[in-house]
This record gives sequence, structure tokens and C-alpha cells, in this order.
Amino acid sequence: MSSLQQGMAACSTCPKMCRHVCPTAQGSVRESRTPSAKSTMGHLWESGLLELDDDVRQAFYDCCHCGLCLTHCEVEGVHLIAQTRHLRARLVEQGAAHPAVLDWAAFVAESGVLPGVSRDVLAHHAQPDAGARSLILMGMAAARWDADVIAAVLAQAAQRGEAVATLGGAETPTGGEAWDLGLEELAKQQAQALADQLNEGPWERIICLDPADALMLMHGWPLLGVTLTKAVVALPIWLAENPVYFVETWERVAFHDPAPLARGLEETEAPRALIRAAGAELVEPLYHGREGRCCGGDGGLPVTNPALADAITAESARELLRLGVDRVLTACPTCTGRLRLALGDALPVEDLSVWMLRHIHSEG
Ligand code: SF4
Ligand code: SF4
Repeated sequence: MSSLQQGMAACSTCPKMCRHVCPTAQGSVRESRTPSAKSTMGHLWESGLLELDDDVRQAFYDCCHCGLCLTHCEVEGVHLIAQTRHLRARLVEQGAAHPAVLDWAAFVAESGVLPGVSRDVLAHHAQPDAGARSLILMGMAAARWDADVIAAVLAQAAQRGEAVATLGGAETPTGGEAWDLGLEELAKQQAQALADQLNEGPWERIICLDPADALMLMHGWPLLGVTLTKAVVALPIWLAENPVYFVETWERVAFHDPAPLARGLEETEAPRALIRAAGAELVEPLYHGREGRCCGGDGGLPVTNPALADAITAESARELLRLGVDRVLTACPTCTGRLRLALGDALPVEDLSVWMLRHIHSEG
């Protein structure tokens, strides 16, 4: 039995210490979508004791890889994110993948980008600079959901006098979404193709605008056997790197913690320190930091169960709306885009980097 199979077996007998935090269990209002139930089904299916039908298969996709269960789990060897990737990869191997995954893979194979992404947006921000120490990895999510973050980061680099480069229209996916969907071979190909580009450039470090990309480069690529020879920096760390001078604001703001940043990279303080430095009043939702709610946009859930992904986003949006703040800040293009759709005109949502640009003195 592999360590993942042992983890599923252990989880299936757990008294469900994490069931109250799982957004897919809450959003679907189904006991079969709790982490323990999904582990039980995975364990029984792999043991040949449970037939695969549409509902069992869907259970393996109903996980947004938020990692909230892991923050409450004390059982050794249990890892719902690794487990669902494994189960989805087995579905692909057996020719039983969700039809939406196959459509997604066909689109990506033909276009070279992820659905919803325009290569023109990436090309528009091309910044070749042979002398740059840092490469800005713009990311598919920024190109899809929030290109303002790209412009804001390039503007702040220029203000600081820091030479940065981008790959422009040559930038390709990290493989993270393919991996999440169980398309392991495609994920490896994508990761290797991007790693080859990153490794051959003169820059010393890669600044990722999307924390999911930073997490993939730092922790996902080694698991896929892909080597990156450069340092990786998540955007909030780069924003906090140099002293900045803020024009004070009296806004009341909330910070939505992106799951890959707060739980994947365990970074919750850098964005808050920047918000406080600008004089804003930070209002925290009940669940924040490492326990913050998910936007529903990760783990491939919008591909395989868009209605459930939207229900999760709507719940996070409702919680933020109840705070009575002037603005929601976050540090992830996917969170920004999805929360904007859910909140509409009721409450503005902005990436921290875009908000900061408005609050930095020109000499800062
Ligand atoms: S993920 Fe951990 S805490 Fe949650 S049910 Fe499984 S073993 Fe228990
Ligand atoms: S990673 Fe998130 S969505 Fe998936 S089982 Fe754990 S809590 Fe639920």
C-alpha cells in the first residue's frame, strides 16, 4: 500500500476533526463531500471494493485544494490535496476522467494557454531586459483575471529603479492546473518547458504575481522531477522588500488570504504589515490568516464543478460584505477576479499591489 493509500485509509476512520472547515462539504451540503468521506471512497475504490459511478467520480473532483482540512488534521500521512491529484490521475490512466478535464486538455494542447487567457495580454507586458536581476512571472491567472496587477508591479519596479524582465507572450503555464486535474504528463511537460526558459535566463530570481505559481515552482516542480535553478519570491514578499513611503489612507479594508499564500507558503503577515503601514484600518473576518476562507478557484474545481466553485466564492463574498469595509484587498489574481464577480458593485476588490501603487509617494 502506498503512503497515499495509507493516508486515505487513516482518514476514513478519523472522527472528522476537519469537517466543519471543508468548503466543498459546506457548499454542496453533502456528507459525501467531507474530507473523510472522500478518503473513504478513494480508499475503497483503490481497494476494488467500490464501483466507480458518476457520483463517486465527481467526489474525487469536488475539492478546491484549499488545504483547510490540513490545518486541522493531526493524522500522519493524510494529505487531501495529494490524494485527490492521485485519484484524478488514476481516472485519467483508466480513461475515466471527467469529460470537462478532457475538453480542458484539448483546449490547452491546441492553444498553449489556459482557458480564458489571452496571450496578447502577456505579450503587451513584454519587458526583455538582459541586465535584470529579477524576472516577473506574470502568470496565466493575472492574464485571465487581473492584468492590472502586472502593470502595477512593473510600475513599482520602475519607481524603485529595479530592473525587471518578463517573458511577454513567450510565457507558458507552470503545469499547476494540469497537475491538479490529474493530467500529470501534461503538467510535467508544461513545467519542464517553463523551467527551461527560466533556467536559461540571466536573472537570479523569479517573482511570482500568483501565489499558486510560487507554490508550484517551489514545492510542485520538485515532486514532478523538474528543477529550477533560480530563487522564487512570492509577490507580497517582494512588495515588502524595500521600504516604501505611503500616502496615508483612512480606508477600512479587509484582506482575503489566498489559500496558496496563507496555507501553502504560510505567509499571512507581510500583506497585513503593508496595509497597516499605509494607515488603513484592517478589519479581519472571523476566519482569516491560515484559517481564511477559500475563493473556490483552485484545485481545478471551476473546471469540474463550476456551480460548487461559485457557491464557495459566494460564501466568502458574503462574509466579506458583512464586515462593512470600504474595500477588500487580496494578493492573488484568481481571488480578485472571482470575488469581483461575486461582489459586483457591492464592494470593490483589488490586488494589494494595485492598491499600494496608489498610496506610494512618487519619491518612494
Ligand atoms: S483530513 Fe485529517 S482531520 Fe480531516 S477527516 Fe481526514 S484524518 Fe481526520
Ligand atoms: S483541501 Fe479543502 S476542499 Fe479539499 S477536502 Fe480539504 S478542506 Fe475540503
